[in-house]
Amino acid sequence: MTFSDLGLDAALVRTVEEKGYLEPSPIQAQAIPAILQGSDIMAAAQTGTGKTAGFTLPLLHRLNLGKPVRNNRVRALVLTPTRELAAQVHESVQTYGQHLKLQSSVVFGGVKINPQMMRLRRGADILVATPGRLIDLYEQNALQFNDLEILVLDEADRMLDMGFINDIRKILALLPKKRQNLLFSATFSDDIRKLAKGLLKDPLEISVSPQNSTAPAVEQIIYEVDKTNKTALLAHLIKEQQWNQVLVFGRTKHGADRLVRQLTALDIPSAVIHGNRSQNQRTEALAGFKQGKVQVLVATDIAARGIDIDQLPYVVNYDLPQVAEDYVHRIGRTGRAGASGYAISLVSMDEKKQLVDIEKLTKQKFERQQVLGFEPDPHAPKTDTKPKNSQNIKSPNSTVKVKMNHSAKALGAKSKAGAKPKAASQPANTPARSKNRPRQQRAP
Ligand code: AMP
Repeated sequence: MTFSDLGLDAALVRTVEEKGYLEPSPIQAQAIPAILQGSDIMAAAQTGTGKTAGFTLPLLHRLNLGKPVRNNRVRALVLTPTRELAAQVHESVQTYGQHLKLQSSVVFGGVKINPQMMRLRRGADILVATPGRLIDLYEQNALQFNDLEILVLDEADRMLDMGFINDIRKILALLPKKRQNLLFSATFSDDIRKLAKGLLKDPLEISVSPQNSTAPAVEQIIYEVDKTNKTALLAHLIKEQQWNQVLVFGRTKHGADRLVRQLTALDIPSAVIHGNRSQNQRTEALAGFKQGKVQVLVATDIAARGIDIDQLPYVVNYDLPQVAEDYVHRIGRTGRAGASGYAISLVSMDEKKQLVDIEKLTKQKFERQQVLGFEPDPHAPKTDTKPKNSQNIKSPNSTVKVKMNHSAKALGAKSKAGAKPKAASQPANTPARSKNRPRQQRAP
């Protein structure tokens, strides 16, 4: 099947050809014709499936058929949970719409509102927005929704997780009743179904992978390891296997900072992004990572949302997430658009429950593996044990003392990762530009 088979405008087909897309991804093959027909859709699709083009292309096609936008009006609204995602979706809108004469704009919090108000004066055929700033703009009469034709909720589950439900309800109440609604969510929780019920009319349900399942192209590996040995094991795997572009998830900002210091001390170029980093620091970290100057990017869950890096080969869960759904989101960062990837989780004794929760959610049972020289001590207390094998991660400028057997052969005997292919460093495209707020705060 080709993009023109789907009924898209020739200008859009030309753009995807220029982007080098050979054929529509499964979500695109299902969503594009349905959206072109005007149906509401509810799609279970995580990042990496091509979902953004899946709604952006037909959106552009439909808008291109209608009347040009009027001042201060919006014809299609895309709501996203984070500023990063808003910026990225807008970038996709601009890219895919480059051969059309449609206006688009993006608004999110954390930056001055006035320039956004100015830009909205001439209206936007497509407006990408985070909920809080959108409401602020509406309340300051910077935009009107009378002409709204299409609403997209992107990463709806994340919006609910982040406590935006009231903002979403408020926005829904402002929109014309007659409109097309498109809802995208990585997982379909009961809350999402409840939201969808009140929002969508006879929606077409699209699921590109079974509910709550992880992307099949991602090989998931679980290494049991003592908490105190995690950094040494990570450094060992990175060096031994020559992992070149590794996104590492940590649970806390503090822990993420510490890990970056430790890896840097081990001569592994690393950078961090989390809620306490300024927008410039984040942009710089991500740009370095994409250019291959930074080998390891350590991120917290919220900060990592919406980061788009093509075909990221390795994602590491340094800590397992507290919420099992976050595991699905995290590993959605690899194995993107059909490329294979590895999701490696370093699991300590005290994380067994989280692991079981993840297995329940994703309906799979993981084989627990160990890396020779890093086996967990069965008698170790749950936390704060001295590392075994004399591996000491010391203060930032110190080196790691390693006394253990980790020849490739020995590793291969026990560790599946011993047989993994080496990753090539890959260029990637879109920089994120702004920072998030922590969960449960008002919309950015
Ligand atoms: P998304 O799931 O929207 O975040 O898209 C993931 C990545 O896949 C993006 O970097 C897109 O550029 C890329 N992509 C989207 N559609 C296709 C396609 N049909 N063929 C190849 N790559 C694609």
